[in-house]
Amino acid sequence: MNSKDPKHRPETIAITAGRPEVGADSALNQPISLNSTFVAGGAIGYGRYGNETWTALEEAISALEGGKTLSYSSGMAAISAVFSTLPAGAKVVASDQGYSGVMTLLGNLNAAKKLKAEFVSIADTNAVIAVLDGADLLWIESPTNPSLDVADLPALIKEAKSRGITVAVDNTFATALTQQPLAMGADIVMNSVTKYLAGHSDVVLGSLSTNDPVHYKALEDARKFNGSIPGPFEAWLALRGIRTFPLRFQRASENALEIAKRLSQHPLVTRVRYPGLASDPQHAKAKAFMKGFGAIVSFEYAGDAAATDKVCESSKIITFATSLGGVESLWERRRRWPIESASVPETLIRLSVGCEDIEDLWTDIDSALHTAR
Ligand SMILES: *Cc1c(COP(=O)(O)O)cnc(C)c1O
Repeated sequence: MNSKDPKHRPETIAITAGRPEVGADSALNQPISLNSTFVAGGAIGYGRYGNETWTALEEAISALEGGKTLSYSSGMAAISAVFSTLPAGAKVVASDQGYSGVMTLLGNLNAAKKLKAEFVSIADTNAVIAVLDGADLLWIESPTNPSLDVADLPALIKEAKSRGITVAVDNTFATALTQQPLAMGADIVMNSVTKYLAGHSDVVLGSLSTNDPVHYKALEDARKFNGSIPGPFEAWLALRGIRTFPLRFQRASENALEIAKRLSQHPLVTRVRYPGLASDPQHAKAKAFMKGFGAIVSFEYAGDAAATDKVCESSKIITFATSLGGVESLWERRRRWPIESASVPETLIRLSVGCEDIEDLWTDIDSALHTAR
């Protein structure tokens, strides 16, 4: 199929990419390949080196993000693969606020002197530029989890590349539908496929995409020899999820904007973070290069931590659970996790807006906010 026809838009690509060749009675969907070994003489050889179902998924993600993609057993496995390719003692510039797993991993690698992490506010472009000299890697997550800070991607990528620094972007919140970091000049784009791409809260998977054959080879070696490979069934589920990814993401993003607007008028909410809100301090910067603002809304409750937990427990439609990016709405008080950054307020709720009816969702949110009082 013409899955990589550059004229096709993402809504089409998500449906056409990663399919088997068309022929009489050929399968429409890539089958789940359950093989640890392959007959000698071919390109794969062994089940830790390759798998036809991974390849189909990787083609689909490449068609959305650009570049060439490698899938991994989780988002964190993909991130670990990037850090594992750095020389010992490498300097990594990263956000001082971001996904708690990455913050923990970088903190541990830094403490063990395996690399030197320099944490900086990623939303403060000048502060990032000020610490770039001598860095080996600029790690950008944008918007950040859970604070929804936005990095000025075009500016930061340009500054880092002019210094010869590798730039990797965690695109999990934004997705390829709102920004394509490789097209902006980034070297590596990472996705927690667990989230919007797979989209049904039933699979843990990650990916890295790159245009650079040297990075590709190093990252493929990291997967082969660290052994952080995806399961074929998980790859198949993720590819199935991608077929409806643009539909789901668009609907969830529309719901999120409406909920963010209503939350910002709510008497029991003290602050709302959503880069799509015109009143959000990140809005102008985000609007300059993003095509949408995603479906995560973070807000602070007018109460203490216990009351905020009660809000999350009081909903009927929205599930009190971690993770994000599924068709179903989820929320949680992020600081219930001991590894969450102390800069995240105790009363911050991260809401992953799903695809339910907007009025049903709002009734549920409003009632939970009042029940906890
Ligand atoms: C969930 C998440 C990850 C980690 O992905 P896993 O698939 O859970 O390993 C990394 N970055 C962001 C922004 C995430 O939300």
